[in-house]
Amino acid sequence: MSESQQHATRQCVSCGINISGTNAARFKCPDCGNLIFRCSTCRKQSNLYECDDCGFTGP
Ligand SMILES: [Zn+2]
Ligand SMILES: [Zn+2]
Repeated sequence: MSESQQHATRQCVSCGINISGTNAARFKCPDCGNLIFRCSTCRKQSNLYECDDCGFTGP
């Protein structure tokens, strides 16, 4: 249950907006486990995301 403390700006991987302080979705890349953030707008629209660590893309 460890959660890495990242102080870097959190951005939606789909549209790139700053999602800190919003109710953005947070999940792990199914391929490499990298933490991915996606804003509620992109989640609603089911935009594609791309892991910036391994390049995995998914819905
Ligand atoms: Zn977005
Ligand atoms: Zn990945």
